Amino acid sequence: MASDIEIARAATLKPMPEVAARLGIPDEALEPYGKTKAKISASFIATLKDRPRGKLVLVTAINPTPAGEGKTTTTVGLGDGLARIGKKAAICLREPSLGPCFGMKGGAAGGGHAQVVPMEDINLHFTGDFHAITAAHNLLCALLDNHLYWGNALQIDTRRIALRRALDMNDRALRNLVVGLGGPANGVPREAGFDITVASEVMAILCLARDLNDLTERLGRIVVGTRRDRSPVTARDLGADGAMTVLLKEAFQPNLVQTLEHTPALVHGGPFANIAHGCNSLIATDTALRLADYVVTEAGFGADLGAEKFFDIKCRKGGLVPSAAVLVATVRALKMNGGIAKADLGAENVAAVTAGCVNLGRHIENLKSFGVPVVVALNHFTSDTAAEIAAVQAFCAGLGVEAILSTHWAEGSKGTEALARKVVELVDGGSARFAPLYEDALPLADKIETIARRIYRAGSVVFDKAAREQLERWQEAGYGHLPVCMAKTQYSFSADPTLLGAPEGHELPVREVRLSAGAGFVVAICGDIMTMPGLPKQPAALSIGLNAEGQIEGLF
Ligand code: ADP
Ligand code: MG
Repeated sequence: MASDIEIARAATLKPMPEVAARLGIPDEALEPYGKTKAKISASFIATLKDRPRGKLVLVTAINPTPAGEGKTTTTVGLGDGLARIGKKAAICLREPSLGPCFGMKGGAAGGGHAQVVPMEDINLHFTGDFHAITAAHNLLCALLDNHLYWGNALQIDTRRIALRRALDMNDRALRNLVVGLGGPANGVPREAGFDITVASEVMAILCLARDLNDLTERLGRIVVGTRRDRSPVTARDLGADGAMTVLLKEAFQPNLVQTLEHTPALVHGGPFANIAHGCNSLIATDTALRLADYVVTEAGFGADLGAEKFFDIKCRKGGLVPSAAVLVATVRALKMNGGIAKADLGAENVAAVTAGCVNLGRHIENLKSFGVPVVVALNHFTSDTAAEIAAVQAFCAGLGVEAILSTHWAEGSKGTEALARKVVELVDGGSARFAPLYEDALPLADKIETIARRIYRAGSVVFDKAAREQLERWQEAGYGHLPVCMAKTQYSFSADPTLLGAPEGHELPVREVRLSAGAGFVVAICGDIMTMPGLPKQPAALSIGLNAEGQIEGLF
């Protein structure tokens, strides 16, 4: 089969007004960025607020292999499948980060015949949102260091500055550094560092804000550091919130593109799934829900992390009510969860698939515990055998859940027709009784315990002393009502990436906690978490360039 970029290039895209018309968006509400990308105007979005919302469908996955199991690809394929069976459907996805594009080969705009296009643009600079977020974030940093330079009237303790700079690039050399060197004219020397833009709290804020006023409020609440008495100093104290909002004004408007089959897709925002909540912007999802009858969206990482944060953070904050969940599984990931080494995943092994189904079963049970009906999408790879597929379907049937073989990667919407019909049946059946896992009022430490025991099936949670004390301080300081954003490995229900399948009774270590007061959550870090990735020994960048026709080669 042709590569992703070859398939994408061969597609004929529809003019944006035609794509927008499918959702009833008038021409004048489009702000074009070239011919095949547009932002939806803020004034048009403001007119939608009293319209009823359509139905929301979450695409999530089992614990994956390092290659990814196809959540984005399936989100696109299902959106196209719904359109194919005559439904008014829209897709909501995250914008990809530049960093990984030049590290590991592979984009984040779907794959095969289930892609959003123009995929090179979407994967690279797109409409400039991430650059705007980087600029807004670094403006806050500049104002902070400038404040120190001019005498530090706010008495910020330079040893306790939480804010780091941001850049949308994988660059490990920037993780830890000293700024302000070179004498009194060049600022106040202090330890600093960079995070990748998707790990910036500004990104998480843009993705959870309801409107521009709420965006300004949230930016103002960012805690940049503390004074000697540990009282917080915020972006508002530095006077940064107004100017940051100005830089983010356009970035806050959702981007409209299309799939290879011209289904409208809102691709907007891209918070990290570890340090943040890992799904596209609330404003994009809400806008899509006011315009379409069915909205399909993806949450990053496996369902233990991605779906839990989607439900407990995004749905809670946005008042969203999901009607169904699609759990993506692949034969290769099931084999891996069944104990097979990465190198041997290509060979048929029905026993390993069956053994790995415990992972699938656990995710099904968890999703149902949120009151959301589930269907399994078995994302078909050409190496899957009939016996392996039958084993997955038999296992799911035993749990009263359908596992539908989906061939969208190879065939586009033809391969998700059955999945789309099942999703419509679940959604229209109205059996969803969505409720988040915990109440706002539950203390922070108890929220972490609840997630660990109910979703991860941990036997115990062990807090580092400093983390426990910090949670108590925030509890007293009035942050106790916030939800918790878990940061742990995506490969296991536990904090140990090698503990596959469906582990129980393990210990969840909470090493560190961080406050994202603007985004409105407390991050609980369980294990090693990378906020500035590095490049591999042979970065994808080495094989990327332009060909004689001026087209991008080597990217995907
Ligand atoms: P996720 O969103 O879960 O990380 P993606 O949808 O981005 O996963 O898919 C990861 C990679 O796997 C992409 O490069 C995609 O093209 C590829 N892929 C997805 N589904 C299939 C499939 N059925 N066959 C072959 N490759 C696939
Ligand atoms: Mg994805």
